[in-house]
Amino acid sequence: MTLPLLCDLSRDELANWCQAQGEQPYRADQIRKWIFGKRVSDFEAMTDLPAGLRTKLAEQFTVFSSRVAAHQRSSDGTQKLLIELADGENVECVLMREDDRRTICISTQVGCGMGCMFCASGLLGLSRNLSAGEIVEQILRLDRLLPALERITNIVVMGMGEPLANLSSLLKALTTLDEKGGLGLSARRITISTVGLPEKIRELARAGKPYNLAVSLHAPNDALRSELVPVNRNIGIEAILAAADEFFEQTGRRVTYEYVVLAERNDSLKEARELAALLRGRNAHINLIPMNAVCELPFHDPAAERLRAFIEVVEQAGVTTTVRKRKGADIDAACGQLRLRHAGAPQLVPIQAMS
Ligand code: SAH
Repeated sequence: MTLPLLCDLSRDELANWCQAQGEQPYRADQIRKWIFGKRVSDFEAMTDLPAGLRTKLAEQFTVFSSRVAAHQRSSDGTQKLLIELADGENVECVLMREDDRRTICISTQVGCGMGCMFCASGLLGLSRNLSAGEIVEQILRLDRLLPALERITNIVVMGMGEPLANLSSLLKALTTLDEKGGLGLSARRITISTVGLPEKIRELARAGKPYNLAVSLHAPNDALRSELVPVNRNIGIEAILAAADEFFEQTGRRVTYEYVVLAERNDSLKEARELAALLRGRNAHINLIPMNAVCELPFHDPAAERLRAFIEVVEQAGVTTTVRKRKGADIDAACGQLRLRHAGAPQLVPIQAMS
Protein backbone atom coordinates (compact mmCIF):
# COMPACT_ATOMS: atom_id res chain seq x y z
CA MET A 1 0.00 0.00 0.00
CA THR A 2 1.23 3.51 -0.77
CA LEU A 3 1.80 5.91 2.10
CA PRO A 4 -0.08 9.24 2.22
CA LEU A 5 1.39 12.05 0.13
CA LEU A 6 3.26 14.61 2.20
CA CYS A 7 2.06 17.39 -0.12
CA ASP A 8 -1.56 16.60 0.68
CA LEU A 9 -0.74 18.52 3.86
CA SER A 10 -0.79 22.31 3.86
CA ARG A 11 2.07 24.13 5.58
CA ASP A 12 -0.08 24.52 8.71
CA GLU A 13 -1.12 20.89 8.71
CA LEU A 14 2.51 19.80 8.41
CA ALA A 15 3.49 22.12 11.27
CA ASN A 16 0.71 20.58 13.38
CA TRP A 17 1.93 17.12 12.51
CA CYS A 18 5.46 18.09 13.59
CA GLN A 19 4.12 19.37 16.89
CA ALA A 20 2.19 16.15 17.41
CA GLN A 21 5.55 14.34 17.09
CA GLY A 22 6.98 16.55 19.85
CA GLU A 23 8.89 18.76 17.39
CA GLN A 24 8.88 22.51 16.81
CA PRO A 25 6.50 23.72 14.07
CA TYR A 26 9.37 25.39 12.17
CA ARG A 27 10.49 21.90 11.18
CA ALA A 28 7.67 22.02 8.62
CA ASP A 29 9.43 24.80 6.74
CA GLN A 30 12.69 22.89 6.81
CA ILE A 31 10.97 19.85 5.32
CA ARG A 32 9.25 21.97 2.68
CA LYS A 33 12.53 23.63 1.77
CA TRP A 34 14.12 20.27 1.08
CA ILE A 35 11.22 19.14 -1.08
CA PHE A 36 10.47 22.33 -3.00
CA GLY A 37 13.74 24.23 -2.87
CA LYS A 38 16.37 21.52 -2.90
CA ARG A 39 14.36 18.97 -4.90
CA VAL A 40 15.04 16.22 -2.39
CA SER A 41 12.45 13.50 -1.91
CA ASP A 42 14.30 11.08 0.36
CA PHE A 43 13.58 11.97 3.99
CA GLU A 44 16.87 10.39 5.10
CA ALA A 45 18.77 13.01 3.10
CA MET A 46 17.16 15.90 5.04
CA THR A 47 20.20 16.28 7.23
CA ASP A 48 19.16 19.26 9.34
CA LEU A 49 16.21 17.30 10.77
CA PRO A 50 16.59 15.14 13.88
CA ALA A 51 17.07 11.46 12.98
CA GLY A 52 13.88 10.49 14.85
CA LEU A 53 11.80 12.92 12.82
CA ARG A 54 13.27 11.66 9.57
CA THR A 55 12.32 8.10 10.52
CA LYS A 56 8.77 9.13 11.39
CA LEU A 57 8.42 10.98 8.11
CA ALA A 58 9.61 7.96 6.17
CA GLU A 59 7.23 5.68 8.08
CA GLN A 60 4.20 7.87 7.52
CA PHE A 61 4.61 9.72 4.22
CA THR A 62 5.89 9.62 0.70
CA VAL A 63 6.83 12.59 -1.51
CA PHE A 64 5.92 10.81 -4.75
CA SER A 65 3.22 8.18 -5.02
CA SER A 66 3.26 8.30 -8.80
CA ARG A 67 5.61 7.08 -11.48
CA VAL A 68 6.44 8.63 -14.82
CA ALA A 69 4.79 6.34 -17.36
CA ALA A 70 5.96 8.32 -20.39
CA HIS A 71 8.27 11.28 -20.98
CA GLN A 72 8.14 13.06 -24.32
CA ARG A 73 10.45 15.80 -25.54
CA SER A 74 9.45 18.10 -28.37
CA SER A 75 11.89 19.66 -30.80
CA ASP A 76 10.81 23.09 -29.47
CA GLY A 77 11.96 22.22 -25.94
CA THR A 78 8.51 21.35 -24.61
CA GLN A 79 8.42 18.28 -22.39
CA LYS A 80 5.37 16.27 -21.48
CA LEU A 81 4.95 13.73 -18.72
CA LEU A 82 2.32 11.04 -18.45
CA ILE A 83 2.08 10.37 -14.74
CA GLU A 84 0.67 7.13 -13.40
CA LEU A 85 -0.97 7.72 -10.03
CA ALA A 86 -1.00 5.25 -7.14
CA ASP A 87 -4.34 3.75 -8.27
CA GLY A 88 -3.14 3.24 -11.84
CA GLU A 89 -4.95 6.27 -13.29
CA ASN A 90 -2.99 8.57 -15.62
CA VAL A 91 -2.72 12.34 -15.94
CA GLU A 92 -0.63 14.57 -18.16
CA CYS A 93 1.40 17.67 -17.45
CA VAL A 94 3.66 19.81 -19.62
CA LEU A 95 6.75 22.05 -19.31
CA MET A 96 7.12 24.80 -21.91
CA ARG A 97 10.14 27.04 -22.28
CA GLU A 98 10.24 30.41 -23.91
CA ASP A 99 12.85 33.15 -23.43
CA ASP A 100 13.16 33.52 -19.68
CA ARG A 101 9.80 31.91 -18.96
CA ARG A 102 9.32 28.36 -17.85
CA THR A 103 5.62 27.69 -17.87
CA ILE A 104 4.00 24.47 -16.77
CA CYS A 105 0.53 23.18 -17.60
CA ILE A 106 -1.06 20.93 -15.00
CA SER A 107 -4.12 18.69 -14.67
CA THR A 108 -6.74 18.79 -11.91
CA GLN A 109 -8.84 15.73 -12.70
CA VAL A 110 -8.42 12.29 -14.24
CA GLY A 111 -10.38 12.76 -17.46
CA CYS A 112 -13.06 15.43 -17.61
CA GLY A 113 -16.82 15.56 -17.28
CA MET A 114 -17.45 18.64 -19.39
CA GLY A 115 -17.55 16.86 -22.78
CA CYS A 116 -16.39 19.71 -25.04
CA MET A 117 -16.75 18.38 -28.59
CA PHE A 118 -13.19 19.14 -29.73
CA CYS A 119 -11.32 18.06 -26.60
CA ALA A 120 -9.43 14.79 -26.15
CA SER A 121 -9.55 14.88 -22.33
CA GLY A 122 -13.29 14.41 -22.12
CA LEU A 123 -13.53 11.50 -24.53
CA LEU A 124 -13.26 8.90 -21.78
CA GLY A 125 -15.37 10.89 -19.29
CA LEU A 126 -14.42 11.82 -15.74
CA SER A 127 -12.77 9.24 -13.47
CA ARG A 128 -12.04 11.31 -10.38
CA ASN A 129 -10.68 14.49 -8.87
CA LEU A 130 -6.98 14.77 -8.05
CA SER A 131 -5.99 15.46 -4.46
CA ALA A 132 -3.99 18.59 -3.64
CA GLY A 133 -0.91 16.41 -3.23
CA GLU A 134 -1.40 14.83 -6.64
CA ILE A 135 -1.58 18.30 -8.17
CA VAL A 136 1.60 19.37 -6.33
CA GLU A 137 3.28 16.16 -7.43
CA GLN A 138 2.97 17.16 -11.09
CA ILE A 139 4.56 20.53 -10.28
CA LEU A 140 7.44 18.90 -8.41
CA ARG A 141 8.07 16.42 -11.22
CA LEU A 142 8.17 19.16 -13.86
CA ASP A 143 10.33 21.41 -11.66
CA ARG A 144 12.86 18.60 -11.39
CA LEU A 145 13.22 18.46 -15.17
CA LEU A 146 14.82 21.92 -15.02
CA PRO A 147 18.55 22.60 -14.51
CA ALA A 148 19.58 23.31 -10.90
CA LEU A 149 19.42 27.08 -11.13
CA GLU A 150 16.20 27.35 -13.12
CA ARG A 151 12.75 27.60 -11.62
CA ILE A 152 9.19 27.41 -12.85
CA THR A 153 8.03 30.97 -13.54
CA ASN A 154 4.38 30.47 -14.53
CA ILE A 155 1.60 27.93 -14.16
CA VAL A 156 -1.39 27.45 -16.41
CA VAL A 157 -4.11 25.19 -15.09
CA MET A 158 -5.11 24.04 -18.56
CA GLY A 159 -4.36 20.35 -18.49
CA MET A 160 -6.90 17.60 -18.07
CA GLY A 161 -10.09 18.30 -16.16
CA GLU A 162 -12.20 21.24 -15.12
CA PRO A 163 -10.21 23.09 -12.45
CA LEU A 164 -13.22 24.79 -10.88
CA ALA A 165 -14.94 21.43 -10.42
CA ASN A 166 -12.06 20.55 -8.08
CA LEU A 167 -11.50 23.99 -6.65
CA SER A 168 -10.74 23.18 -3.02
CA SER A 169 -7.91 20.76 -3.89
CA LEU A 170 -6.59 23.15 -6.54
CA LEU A 171 -6.51 26.10 -4.16
CA LYS A 172 -4.84 24.02 -1.48
CA ALA A 173 -2.16 22.97 -3.99
CA LEU A 174 -1.59 26.49 -5.32
CA THR A 175 -1.57 28.10 -1.89
CA THR A 176 1.17 25.81 -0.63
CA LEU A 177 3.47 26.96 -3.46
CA ASP A 178 3.53 30.53 -2.21
CA GLU A 179 3.90 29.78 1.49
CA LYS A 180 7.21 29.69 3.31
CA GLY A 181 9.42 26.89 2.07
CA GLY A 182 7.41 26.56 -1.16
CA LEU A 183 8.31 27.44 -4.74
CA GLY A 184 7.66 31.15 -4.33
CA LEU A 185 5.09 31.22 -7.12
CA SER A 186 2.48 33.87 -6.50
CA ALA A 187 -1.10 33.96 -7.75
CA ARG A 188 -0.21 36.59 -10.37
CA ARG A 189 1.84 34.00 -12.21
CA ILE A 190 -0.93 31.44 -12.23
CA THR A 191 -3.76 31.21 -14.77
CA ILE A 192 -6.82 29.09 -14.12
CA SER A 193 -8.83 28.11 -17.19
CA THR A 194 -12.49 27.20 -16.82
CA VAL A 195 -15.35 26.02 -18.99
CA GLY A 196 -17.30 28.72 -17.11
CA LEU A 197 -18.99 27.70 -13.85
CA PRO A 198 -20.43 30.98 -12.50
CA GLU A 199 -20.74 30.08 -8.81
CA LYS A 200 -17.25 28.62 -8.78
CA ILE A 201 -15.84 31.72 -10.49
CA ARG A 202 -17.30 33.75 -7.61
CA GLU A 203 -15.81 31.32 -5.10
CA LEU A 204 -12.41 31.74 -6.77
CA ALA A 205 -12.77 35.53 -6.53
CA ARG A 206 -13.56 35.18 -2.83
CA ALA A 207 -10.24 33.36 -2.33
CA GLY A 208 -8.92 36.93 -2.45
CA LYS A 209 -5.82 36.20 -4.52
CA PRO A 210 -4.91 37.79 -7.85
CA TYR A 211 -5.13 34.61 -9.95
CA ASN A 212 -5.58 35.10 -13.67
CA LEU A 213 -8.89 33.76 -14.94
CA ALA A 214 -9.31 32.36 -18.45
CA VAL A 215 -12.82 31.51 -19.60
CA SER A 216 -13.23 28.99 -22.43
CA LEU A 217 -15.90 30.76 -24.47
CA HIS A 218 -15.44 29.21 -27.92
CA ALA A 219 -18.67 30.70 -29.30
CA PRO A 220 -20.37 34.11 -29.16
CA ASN A 221 -23.97 32.89 -28.77
CA ASP A 222 -25.70 30.22 -26.72
CA ALA A 223 -26.98 28.17 -29.65
CA LEU A 224 -23.49 27.55 -30.98
CA ARG A 225 -21.81 27.35 -27.60
CA SER A 226 -24.23 24.68 -26.44
CA GLU A 227 -23.29 22.60 -29.48
CA LEU A 228 -19.55 22.88 -28.89
CA VAL A 229 -19.57 23.00 -25.08
CA PRO A 230 -22.61 20.93 -24.03
CA VAL A 231 -22.59 22.01 -20.37
CA ASN A 232 -23.48 25.47 -21.64
CA ARG A 233 -27.12 24.35 -22.02
CA ASN A 234 -27.57 24.62 -18.27
CA ILE A 235 -25.46 27.72 -17.78
CA GLY A 236 -25.60 30.24 -20.63
CA ILE A 237 -23.09 32.87 -21.70
CA GLU A 238 -24.73 35.79 -19.86
CA ALA A 239 -24.36 34.12 -16.47
CA ILE A 240 -20.70 33.35 -17.17
CA LEU A 241 -19.91 36.89 -18.29
CA ALA A 242 -21.66 38.32 -15.22
CA ALA A 243 -19.55 36.13 -12.91
CA ALA A 244 -16.36 36.97 -14.84
CA ASP A 245 -17.17 40.71 -14.59
CA GLU A 246 -17.51 40.30 -10.83
CA PHE A 247 -14.19 38.45 -10.77
CA PHE A 248 -12.57 41.43 -12.46
CA GLU A 249 -14.20 43.91 -10.08
CA GLN A 250 -13.01 41.99 -7.04
CA THR A 251 -9.51 41.05 -8.15
CA GLY A 252 -8.64 43.78 -10.65
CA ARG A 253 -7.36 41.07 -12.98
CA ARG A 254 -8.34 41.34 -16.63
CA VAL A 255 -10.20 38.24 -17.76
CA THR A 256 -9.01 36.28 -20.80
CA TYR A 257 -11.57 34.63 -23.06
CA GLU A 258 -10.30 31.59 -24.89
CA TYR A 259 -11.70 30.80 -28.31
CA VAL A 260 -10.66 27.64 -30.14
CA VAL A 261 -11.05 28.59 -33.78
CA LEU A 262 -12.71 25.71 -35.64
CA ALA A 263 -12.91 25.91 -39.42
CA GLU A 264 -16.47 26.39 -40.66
CA ARG A 265 -17.87 26.03 -37.14
CA ASN A 266 -17.20 29.25 -35.26
CA ASP A 267 -14.87 31.25 -37.53
CA SER A 268 -17.19 33.31 -39.75
CA LEU A 269 -17.14 37.11 -39.81
CA LYS A 270 -20.64 37.08 -38.35
CA GLU A 271 -19.28 35.25 -35.32
CA ALA A 272 -16.31 37.60 -35.13
CA ARG A 273 -18.70 40.59 -35.00
CA GLU A 274 -20.86 38.88 -32.37
CA LEU A 275 -17.80 38.05 -30.29
CA ALA A 276 -16.58 41.63 -30.46
CA ALA A 277 -20.01 42.97 -29.47
CA LEU A 278 -20.10 40.62 -26.50
CA LEU A 279 -16.71 41.61 -25.13
CA ARG A 280 -16.42 45.25 -26.20
CA GLY A 281 -16.54 47.51 -23.17
CA ARG A 282 -15.51 44.70 -20.83
CA ASN A 283 -12.01 44.55 -19.46
CA ALA A 284 -11.35 41.49 -21.53
CA HIS A 285 -8.79 39.96 -23.79
CA ILE A 286 -9.34 37.24 -26.40
CA ASN A 287 -6.90 34.39 -26.79
CA LEU A 288 -7.52 32.53 -30.03
CA ILE A 289 -6.36 28.93 -29.82
CA PRO A 290 -5.39 27.00 -32.93
CA MET A 291 -7.19 23.66 -32.86
CA ASN A 292 -4.90 20.82 -31.87
CA ALA A 293 -6.15 18.19 -34.25
CA VAL A 294 -7.39 15.00 -32.63
CA CYS A 295 -7.98 12.15 -35.06
CA GLU A 296 -11.62 11.06 -35.32
CA LEU A 297 -12.81 14.43 -34.07
CA PRO A 298 -14.24 16.38 -37.01
CA PHE A 299 -12.63 19.74 -36.28
CA HIS A 300 -9.82 21.57 -38.04
CA ASP A 301 -7.87 24.80 -38.08
CA PRO A 302 -9.22 27.55 -40.32
CA ALA A 303 -7.13 28.75 -43.27
CA ALA A 304 -4.66 31.50 -42.30
CA GLU A 305 -6.53 34.04 -44.44
CA ARG A 306 -9.83 33.36 -42.73
CA LEU A 307 -8.24 33.58 -39.28
CA ARG A 308 -6.66 36.93 -40.19
CA ALA A 309 -10.04 38.32 -41.28
CA PHE A 310 -11.62 37.10 -38.04
CA ILE A 311 -8.95 38.79 -35.94
CA GLU A 312 -9.25 42.02 -37.90
CA VAL A 313 -12.98 42.30 -37.20
CA VAL A 314 -12.52 41.68 -33.48
CA GLU A 315 -9.58 44.06 -33.14
CA GLN A 316 -11.28 46.82 -35.12
CA ALA A 317 -14.02 46.70 -32.52
CA GLY A 318 -11.38 47.48 -29.91
CA VAL A 319 -10.98 44.08 -28.27
CA THR A 320 -7.36 42.98 -27.93
CA THR A 321 -6.60 39.59 -29.39
CA THR A 322 -3.68 37.22 -29.29
CA VAL A 323 -3.20 33.88 -31.00
CA ARG A 324 -1.77 31.18 -28.78
CA LYS A 325 1.55 29.85 -29.94
CA ARG A 326 1.52 26.18 -30.66
CA LYS A 327 3.86 24.23 -28.41
CA GLY A 328 4.94 20.65 -28.50
CA ALA A 329 2.97 19.90 -31.63
CA ASP A 330 5.08 16.83 -32.31
CA ILE A 331 4.39 15.27 -28.90
CA ASP A 332 0.63 14.78 -28.54
CA ALA A 333 0.33 18.43 -27.63
CA ALA A 334 -3.37 18.68 -26.89
CA CYS A 335 -4.13 17.72 -23.34
CA GLY A 336 -5.59 14.26 -23.03
CA GLN A 337 -4.05 12.87 -26.19
CA LEU A 338 -1.16 11.05 -24.60
CA ARG A 339 -3.43 9.48 -22.01
CA LEU A 340 -5.86 8.36 -24.68
CA ARG A 341 -3.11 6.70 -26.61
CA HIS A 342 -1.89 5.03 -23.46
CA ALA A 343 -5.40 3.81 -22.73
CA GLY A 344 -5.23 1.86 -25.99
CA ALA A 345 -7.21 4.06 -28.31
CA PRO A 346 -4.89 4.13 -31.33
CA GLN A 347 -7.57 5.68 -33.53
CA LEU A 348 -7.34 8.82 -31.41
CA VAL A 349 -3.69 9.75 -31.86
CA PRO A 350 -3.07 13.29 -33.06
CA ILE A 351 -3.19 13.61 -36.81
CA GLN A 352 -0.05 15.63 -37.33
CA ALA A 353 2.09 18.46 -36.15
CA MET A 354 0.64 21.51 -37.80
CA SER A 355 2.65 24.59 -38.61
N1 SAH B 1 -11.67 22.66 -18.39
C1 SAH B 1 -10.89 23.86 -18.56
C2 SAH B 1 -9.44 23.56 -18.89
C3 SAH B 1 -9.35 22.85 -20.21
S1 SAH B 1 -7.90 22.90 -21.19
C4 SAH B 1 -11.51 24.73 -19.63
O1 SAH B 1 -12.49 24.31 -20.24
O2 SAH B 1 -11.04 25.85 -19.83
C5 SAH B 1 -7.57 24.53 -21.64
C6 SAH B 1 -8.10 25.00 -22.98
O3 SAH B 1 -7.78 24.13 -24.07
C7 SAH B 1 -9.60 25.17 -22.99
O4 SAH B 1 -9.92 26.40 -23.53
C8 SAH B 1 -10.03 24.05 -23.90
O5 SAH B 1 -11.29 24.29 -24.46
C9 SAH B 1 -8.90 24.03 -24.90
N2 SAH B 1 -8.86 22.82 -25.74
C10 SAH B 1 -9.35 21.59 -25.49
N3 SAH B 1 -9.14 20.75 -26.51
C11 SAH B 1 -8.47 21.44 -27.45
C12 SAH B 1 -7.97 21.14 -28.76
N4 SAH B 1 -8.09 19.92 -29.27
N5 SAH B 1 -7.35 22.12 -29.42
C13 SAH B 1 -7.20 23.36 -28.89
N6 SAH B 1 -7.65 23.70 -27.68
C14 SAH B 1 -8.29 22.77 -26.97
